[in-house]
Amino acid sequence: METVENAVRAVKEQLPGMKLLENEPMSLHSSFRIGGPARVIAFPSDVTGLTRLCDILKEHHVAPFLLGNGTNILFPDEGLQDLFLVSTERLQKLFLLPDGAVYAESGVSLARLAAFAQENGLSGLEFAGGIPGTVGGGCIMNAGAYGGELKDVVESVVYLYVPDQTLYELPNADCGFSYRTSFFQKTPGCVLLSAVFRLKPDDRLAISERMQELSEKRRSKQPLDLPSAGSAFRRPEGHFAARLIEDAGLKGYAVGDAQVSEKHAGFVVNRGHASSHEVYDLMMHVRSEVYRRSGVFLEPEIIILPPDYHLDDNGPKIPRNRVVEFGGN
Ligand SMILES: Cc1cc2nc3c(=O)[nH]c(=O)nc-3n(C[C@H](O)[C@H](O)[C@H](O)COP(=O)(O)OP(=O)(O)OC[C@H]3O[C@@H](n4cnc5c(N)ncnc54)[C@H](O)[C@@H]3O)c2cc1C
Repeated sequence: METVENAVRAVKEQLPGMKLLENEPMSLHSSFRIGGPARVIAFPSDVTGLTRLCDILKEHHVAPFLLGNGTNILFPDEGLQDLFLVSTERLQKLFLLPDGAVYAESGVSLARLAAFAQENGLSGLEFAGGIPGTVGGGCIMNAGAYGGELKDVVESVVYLYVPDQTLYELPNADCGFSYRTSFFQKTPGCVLLSAVFRLKPDDRLAISERMQELSEKRRSKQPLDLPSAGSAFRRPEGHFAARLIEDAGLKGYAVGDAQVSEKHAGFVVNRGHASSHEVYDLMMHVRSEVYRRSGVFLEPEIIILPPDYHLDDNGPKIPRNRVVEFGGN
């Protein structure tokens, strides 16, 4: 706590132009619309500001917790008083490189990136148009849908590695992309700054039609009218999480205002004023019932931040697996 307070003071002194929100409800920054107040969120206006901010935090032994669009995170109702959150909201540079590849900063939304590619007659990102995350969050998660994944189109990623305060450029082959994970997700201290995408020239209208088709498919199958964080569980090998949940009789099952979607059992939705505890308890129940009925152990895809989660420059202060998986059983 003390270290975060010192870091806030130092950032105010050394970067007086930096936009800071203090005691900001995370429910306003989460697609789930859930989460208590964060001590601080900083909004660097460019990549240089972000790296300078990270340097100051490093001096105070505080690691930044990066926030994209908050579409894959469950924030605790109790808030996050021990974290220094850093939003990529203002990192919005997006342009064509001379060789025809697309450069995007980490705060660019995948929807905007996909639309930009279509406008420039470049195919390969049609699958990403309906994913509500950013380039940064998408690369961390290797976001994907309808048979496509970012790993198919990312040429390289530039990131700041906070522990040695150095910028690195990783080619696709070294990004450790596999199903909904990446080298960056497994390596605390990586702050993604930008990515380059290699796409294929194609007819604009044909690209647009494919995007339209996928968007209709998404609208017809997913509960987009209610807050959620997308698929609650990872796809277990050889199975579909939604099918297992439905077979366990849990479609529509609710704990308070947290509910297994009636439209798509793979989603947990907030049907009003769900708390993080209700979502957590619901997911725990789903997991144990599915295990009891099918013997398949569901792993959460949503990143669950417990109230005691904090970071310093050596990484998370609670076991890493509690962040991405459940504690206990
Ligand atoms: C309605 C709905 C539909 C969805 N559909 C899909 C889908 O089809 N396919 C799919 O894969 N996902 C889907 N998702 C989940 C989510 O959109 C993706 O996982 C997305 O990639 C997360 O991006 P984000 O910017 O919101 O990341 P956040 O949720 O903000 O963050 C996710 C993780 O990435 C880290 N992070 C974010 N930015 C950076 C950065 N610049 N540097 C370092 N770390 C960073 C965060 O610290 C956190 O650990 C869906 C979500 C919703 C709500």
